[in-house]
Amino acid sequence: MKDCIFCRIVSHGTPAKVVYEDELALAFEDLNPQAPVHVLVVPKRHIESVEHADSGDSALLGHLVRTCATVARKKGIVDMGYRVVTNTGPSAGQSVFHLHFHVLGGRRMTWPPG
Ligand code: AMP
Repeated sequence: MKDCIFCRIVSHGTPAKVVYEDELALAFEDLNPQAPVHVLVVPKRHIESVEHADSGDSALLGHLVRTCATVARKKGIVDMGYRVVTNTGPSAGQSVFHLHFHVLGGRRMTWPPG
């Protein structure tokens, strides 16, 4: 999608530190990390948020979550635990309107998040 920063990263028009890539998903380092490990997992196809995914996207959503686990393994944070989160809508903290899962780890996580 034109004017979407994550679509530009997916098409390799904007540089990113890619952690994992397959035909459906891309994972790359967050520009402003909130933990020692902070990777974003995005679908290659533009979907605004989980709220905009429909029943036909169920397999893709499952694949994205499994990709988060692959990323955690690759980054070596499985044993200490990690967090997967997706912000949905501005009030929940979504600032980029292309669906993404944050994979956060490498430090102790607190709950509830702010
Ligand atoms: P959210 O606020 O949940 O929508 O998350 C968007 C995330 O994208 C933030 O953590 C930003 O730091 C990150 N971000 C924005 N632009 C880029 C970029 N060009 N490369 C990597 N991460 C980015």
